[in-house]
Amino acid sequence: MTTPASSPTSLPIVEARNVTVRFGSFTALNDVSFSIPESPKGEFIAIIGPSGCGKSTLLNLLAGFNRPTSGELLVKGSPIDGPGRERGMIFQQYSSFPHLTVFQNVMFGLKINRVELGLDRAACKERAAELIRQVGLEAHRDKYPHQLSGGQQQRVAIARSLAMEPRILLLDEPFSALDEPTRLEMQELLVELWYRTHPTIFCVTHSVSEAVYLGVRVWIFTQAPGQIAYDIRDAIPPTVGVPPLVAQESAEFKEAVFVVTEAFRRVSSGKLAEMNLNSKISDPQVKP
Ligand code: ADP
Ligand code: MG
Repeated sequence: MTTPASSPTSLPIVEARNVTVRFGSFTALNDVSFSIPESPKGEFIAIIGPSGCGKSTLLNLLAGFNRPTSGELLVKGSPIDGPGRERGMIFQQYSSFPHLTVFQNVMFGLKINRVELGLDRAACKERAAELIRQVGLEAHRDKYPHQLSGGQQQRVAIARSLAMEPRILLLDEPFSALDEPTRLEMQELLVELWYRTHPTIFCVTHSVSEAVYLGVRVWIFTQAPGQIAYDIRDAIPPTVGVPPLVAQESAEFKEAVFVVTEAFRRVSSGKLAEMNLNSKISDPQVKP
């Protein structure tokens, strides 16, 4: 009998096997396991959880900035052993090079990886220009980061990341420093870009409504030592092409916010015994 796991095309895009991270005597992540199947659409996983529960720790592992104390993290069956072009990371703090213009910032990674990407100089320039257009910065391409607003700087970070065509995009509270209207614009842009380029996205946020808007599924972490307490999927309505303020008005969206808030409340109060909140919530320790 052929098992799906034996075929290279069906290897999970990301898999965590009993991942634990300790910092000295402190356990930040405890025995976390999940498997995200490769899918042509890409998954969009929004992650919320109490402060200090290991969300950034998980993203740093996925980015290859840190390693598990025990257990394994695999991308398409290979252990993650450092940063790689197929994984892009976007932080809350703007991370563009201050001495480079928008265009030069987006070109930076393209130039370095030009040969690997199979692009000649003209194709690099074309791709940079196209991404700058997609994130809505055409009019600002020759400006330096300090001449841009916070939202525009995050647009540069997104364009720089997407230029590498990552299969996995990691975002750690990317819009937390932005004002509300800008945050909503960025949420809509991110969903649109995800839908167009279909990477698998892990996005940490501290906002329940942002998680519901962005994610196809929402993971809720327990307090430290962190584990995935809830994987909420069926309750999350699709939002592609719907602006956040419109989406938030729908009954499905409000119901989803209720479900996620209720699960989060249970995590925060430590009442995980009542796991079966309703049928819309899957078991913890996520299967495909
Ligand atoms: P959050 O869920 O808020 O993103 P983090 O993943 O950043 O939480 O951190 C989880 C816990 O691990 C926190 O208590 C934090 O202080 C601790 N921690 C994170 N990184 C380190 C480190 N490099 N050294 C020691 N402790 C750390
Ligand atoms: Mg964090």
